[in-house]
Amino acid sequence: MTIQLTNLTKRFGDLTAVDAIDLDVDNGEVLCLLGPSGCGKTTTLRMIAGLEFATEGEVILGGNRVNELAPRDRNVAMSFQFYALYPSLSVADNLAYPLHAEGITKAEIDKRVAQVSQTLQLDGILNRTPGQLAEGEKQRVAVGRSIIRDPNCFLFDEPLSRLDVQLREEMRGEIKEVLQDLSRPTVIVTHDQLEALTMADRIAVMRDGRIEQVDTPHNVFQRPANLFVAGFIGTPQMNLLPATLTSAQPDGTADFAIQGDQKLAIQVDPRITELAPGTQVTLGIRPRNLEISKDPIDGGISTKIDIVEPMGAETLAHLHTGHHDLRLVTDWRVPLAEGDQVHTRFPPGATHIFTEDGEALRS
Ligand code: ATP
Repeated sequence: MTIQLTNLTKRFGDLTAVDAIDLDVDNGEVLCLLGPSGCGKTTTLRMIAGLEFATEGEVILGGNRVNELAPRDRNVAMSFQFYALYPSLSVADNLAYPLHAEGITKAEIDKRVAQVSQTLQLDGILNRTPGQLAEGEKQRVAVGRSIIRDPNCFLFDEPLSRLDVQLREEMRGEIKEVLQDLSRPTVIVTHDQLEALTMADRIAVMRDGRIEQVDTPHNVFQRPANLFVAGFIGTPQMNLLPATLTSAQPDGTADFAIQGDQKLAIQVDPRITELAPGTQVTLGIRPRNLEISKDPIDGGISTKIDIVEPMGAETLAHLHTGHHDLRLVTDWRVPLAEGDQVHTRFPPGATHIFTEDGEALRS
């Protein structure tokens, strides 16, 4: 079973909510649609489920075009939250509930309940009611209810959004494990990047109805395709510093001028030689990759510490170059005092280069 979306588009009057997206989700794959509010994630999910009809393009499930099929004929499972159990029903009855509408035999229902409760390790608590369960157990029952119908694919819209922080952490890992064992494609909509980074096999980052990058969690973080993805993924946000290329060597050593007459010499992608001196670029560096020292650093730039924010094991500092702010995250033991002058270094290989069109420069 697979999900294929080709040129999928949804317009509401003048508004293009989903703009010609192409996406394939494999059997057993968990794909997260991630993006800011209003970028079209839920509309995409609803078109797969059949709750919205596509204006253009195709929804193909298991090789069959399903554009014209009603939701129930697509046999997809869409759920909005992993919660809301019936308090008066036992775990077994809660699990069986979605099957009653299917008109299947009691023997088959019992078989499915047994299978799902084994997968989710609920066998020992089938006779309890939700009030007698720990929070994590309730969640597993709720997941069980979403998967028991044996649908063609699973679609989840912000499934963990109502949970407290600790439960969310537990559930992220568990859900991923369960979904990978089910041999069905899964699409999860979330605006929470940590959720996407931990649960997804691949992430589709969306903006304004378009997909900006589809890649593994590792690659969207380490190799963002463009400025939007670079700025959207990762907290604190990647530093994005406008600069002018002054010279570049074939080994990737390059000099940049940043506003305020500072010069920065760094080791970047050797493709930097494809750009002519004088080209405007944006340098991207993650706050955890920046290095600082009290002494001048060869090729580095000088900055002043504006604000220091302790974050427990790490400290976030806001540095100022005179024209730009830079965020730095460092071990809490590094002494940082507001007002101090420090030198900032961009270590070799840590800097992303974005050209004027916002695309990443890379081999
Ligand atoms: P959120 O995370 O806030 O739910 P989203 O990424 O899921 O956002 P969608 O709900 O898909 O975004 O909405 C995409 C755009 O389409 C938004 O501008 C929204 O206002 C608009 N939209 C969604 N449904 C409708 C509708 N039924 N009629 C008109 N506009 C709609």
